[in-house]
Amino acid sequence: MKRRKITPKLKESALIVLQARYLVRDEENQIVETPEALFERVAFSVAEGEKNFRKSSSKWEYYGERFYELMAALDFLPNSPTLMNAGRPLGQLSACFVLPVYDSLDSIFETLKYAALIHKSGGGTGFNFSRLRPKGDIVFSTSGVASGPVSFMQVYDSATEAIKQGGKRRGANMGILNVDHPDIEEFITIKSTTGVLTNFNISVGIKDNFIEALKKGEPYALINPRTGKVVTEVSSQKLFDLLVEKAWETGDPGVIFLDTINRFNPTPNLGHIEATNPCGEQPLLPFESCNLGSINLANFVKDGDLDWDRLKETIELAVRFLDDVIEVNRFPLPQIAKITTLNRKIGLGVMGFADMLIKLRIAYSEERALEIAEKVMSFINQESLRASAVLAEERGAFPAFPGSLWDQWGYPPLRNATTTTIAPTGTLSLIAGVSSSIEPLFGIYYERKTLGGIIIKEVHPLFEEILSEEGYSEREIEALQAEIMEKGLISKINLKEPLKKLFLTAFEISPDIHLSIQRIFQKYTHNAVSKTINLPEDTTPEEIKRIYLTAYEWGLKGVTVYRYGSKPEQVIYIKKGE
Ligand code: UDP
Repeated sequence: MKRRKITPKLKESALIVLQARYLVRDEENQIVETPEALFERVAFSVAEGEKNFRKSSSKWEYYGERFYELMAALDFLPNSPTLMNAGRPLGQLSACFVLPVYDSLDSIFETLKYAALIHKSGGGTGFNFSRLRPKGDIVFSTSGVASGPVSFMQVYDSATEAIKQGGKRRGANMGILNVDHPDIEEFITIKSTTGVLTNFNISVGIKDNFIEALKKGEPYALINPRTGKVVTEVSSQKLFDLLVEKAWETGDPGVIFLDTINRFNPTPNLGHIEATNPCGEQPLLPFESCNLGSINLANFVKDGDLDWDRLKETIELAVRFLDDVIEVNRFPLPQIAKITTLNRKIGLGVMGFADMLIKLRIAYSEERALEIAEKVMSFINQESLRASAVLAEERGAFPAFPGSLWDQWGYPPLRNATTTTIAPTGTLSLIAGVSSSIEPLFGIYYERKTLGGIIIKEVHPLFEEILSEEGYSEREIEALQAEIMEKGLISKINLKEPLKKLFLTAFEISPDIHLSIQRIFQKYTHNAVSKTINLPEDTTPEEIKRIYLTAYEWGLKGVTVYRYGSKPEQVIYIKKGE
């Protein structure tokens, strides 16, 4: 291996994560790869994509070097399957898939098999189960009765559980049922039973006509998808109350706004979008897949502002990287290869947003946070589209461009039907050692559970850095850290403003701020934004109702709430210090 200018500066927690699942092992299960070699493997195998084009084929090694630098500097990281599988026999590089489920045993089990193959490679799958006939409906071939979508979801859940061990990581699923399906109540309440559907996030597919009925206080018709006939009418109010109550109780179900999503479906001629990937950030057509990547915003703070020139270069290179991923990707099924290469969707997003704010001395809860969020994301949106248009000149537009929304809006040909997505960056942010996605800090001192149950305990590194910049002595910082470990929440700590405000954590920030940040990012994101509206334990169901309805009014594509302590097992614990 050649000596390179940049060697990755990884924190202890990043090394733990890389060692657990990402670094290549030999047949004796011994790690045989360094983090540097990992980035090299990924960079050069993705740069192989350049060879497919006359204009850049001779420059593929140059791009390999640049991709290496991009990742080794932790300026940008592609989604986990790319890090795990690029240049490896599996070669499956995407995190997000949506698979269709039709109303037949054949289709149900065929799709389950496809899902198993995708999970094995580290991808997540989303399904809309609304085509399945409701529980108790007739099965002609056997004269029996149908068991309904919820029971089949449990079969999917068990299969996911069984392949968990052999796969690269825990298989994740999104299960959606539309609000007008006759089994909607069973679906809404299913996760109240502990231990059920643990490998699923579930969301109700809300349609505009449901919100209209709700606003007018009108009843809502539930329709059998097999016959298209109304089975019964329910009170829209009661159904919504039930949904909200369950979300309050367990965090599930979330909601996705299907009509909003389809208003921004860039290629309506190719089909209707009915589902998203597991964390909700990527709406996709049936059989479509998408590869994501995230820019580490914390790395771009320079002299009290962002280094916009360097950010622009990074965006261009990241778009090129993600487009090359489509070139070298080994798709698990021919149907997936077909639709994915027609649209060539990529999802460039961000991580380290909260860290960036802290470095800029802007509190997450201030108006200025919204202003900078708008500036950053509109920049990423605009520059990624520009980069995609340049690639289209070199390589051709995505094949479904003619007739697409972009085409109708008079855009120049683009290489990718979408360029932006805000992913949760659950693992990527650990590798980069920054705050995840666009979320605020979860705690100054926290315990975070990773893949395979590794527990990482950390005091947020910027806490010490900023305090010492502000003239706190080492002893004072240590005393404050000890106080935080004991009391948990920053609001309970003896720290001066404006520093205190700077370090407020997810459960101390109002839901309206969470939602406003989501709204700003959504405004400049073609796909969706994965964001959790974290709520304190004493939040009421009424409050959740207001959040869901505001999210709809603001044009968000979906929303997820999490009330502290409402799941038996949660990913991040902060000490509450009561
Ligand atoms: N995902 C998955 N299993 C996991 C975590 C994530 O299948 O255990 C998929 C899922 O589609 C999710 C997407 O990866 O929506 C992106 O998640 P995240 O950004 O947290 O992944 P990372 O790239 O950081 O591992």
